[in-house]
Amino acid sequence: MPNKFRVFATADIGPSLDLLRKRGYEVEVYSDPKAPPKTLIIDKVKSGIDGLITTLRDPIDAEVFEAGKGRLKVIAQIAVGFDNINRTDANRYKIPFTHTADVLTEATAEFAFFMMGDLARRMWTAEHLTRENRWGFWHPYLPFLGDEVTGKTIAIIGTGRIGLAMIKKCSGFDMNILCYDPAYQNRDYVKAIQELMDVRHSRGIQKEKTSIKYVGLDDALGQADFVSVHVPLLRKGETETPTYHLFNEITLRKMKPTAFLINTSRGPVVDEAALARALKENWIAGAALDVYEKEPLPSDSPLRDSTIEDRARLYPHFASQAKITRLSTDPNKGMAGRCVQGLIDVLEGNYGGDITKMPYVVNKEAFAQPERKPA
Ligand code: NAD
Repeated sequence: MPNKFRVFATADIGPSLDLLRKRGYEVEVYSDPKAPPKTLIIDKVKSGIDGLITTLRDPIDAEVFEAGKGRLKVIAQIAVGFDNINRTDANRYKIPFTHTADVLTEATAEFAFFMMGDLARRMWTAEHLTRENRWGFWHPYLPFLGDEVTGKTIAIIGTGRIGLAMIKKCSGFDMNILCYDPAYQNRDYVKAIQELMDVRHSRGIQKEKTSIKYVGLDDALGQADFVSVHVPLLRKGETETPTYHLFNEITLRKMKPTAFLINTSRGPVVDEAALARALKENWIAGAALDVYEKEPLPSDSPLRDSTIEDRARLYPHFASQAKITRLSTDPNKGMAGRCVQGLIDVLEGNYGGDITKMPYVVNKEAFAQPERKPA
């Protein structure tokens, strides 16, 4: 018998939606590329949908869960970050929500790495020189020099999935690596990377010996040439180690004046007003950002100041924006495929209907059965 589930997607996530249609689902898609207003999401949920596909642009809280009371069974988010979904509210209404971790890990880490290279070697400024016909001569050091990445020291802030993938990529560039993560330390991974570094050195693949270790935040910031941020957005009250404005006037001033900041995590992790000052007053050498406190970046943002244009690389939340990563229908390769599979798992009661066993559900804690006491 065909499934008669009704699903509303707040954005077109591509051919993966046909997988649902083939299974008999009724799928409605918000066709405007911009995010729908919250009132429209609430109306759709009220109309009796079983599943809601969301993006990081959609605020999902008690109002939405209340509108779906008695009918809404799952929220499937096409992103790994879920700071737009109020977890406490989801748990209160006992609605599972899913995310698309892992399949975007390598794409995001490589984008962070490329951002770092673009920033350090001043590739954007160099291309402008050529395009604007200002490339008048070859000269040993004029009109400017870039900074090499190879052999430098990077601090990885947050050693979860993407942080570890970034470490792997940096180790291939003979970088020294300082890790900081107050909540999760993957010492086995760090040990394996050190072994890899030692083999590369002993076999003559890299000239200098390099090292990797966990350190405190102050040491990471004070010693690194590059600081790359890979934390979730966590506000006060959500954790003992919030990341909201983790980079602020105090922490930015702890970085070396020659150091660069790379942020592919979430915008509010960086206090943008402080960062703009840091760039203007040369507390640090530069920053490459993919995410912002307000997205899209407002036209009056201080980060757009033309006097810091040469040291502020600004990307439009693009780190996972790669073909297979975004659209593959294969749940082991694409965010869209994984998003749809998370939705199917819940609606069709896969894993024996045990939500705590469904791999893409985030808020499993709301569904754990209390332990039965022996009679
Ligand atoms: P993850 O949960 O695997 O890793 C996050 C790590 O940050 C964890 O190890 C955690 O312990 C650590 N952490 C938490 N608080 C910290 C703190 N105060 N200081 C330092 N470390 C802290 O998540 P992930 O899959 O690696 O993704 C990380 C984040 O990257 C996501 O939450 C998302 O917001 C962002 N992201 C952005 C893009 C993009 O397109 N720009 C793409 C993917 C992910």
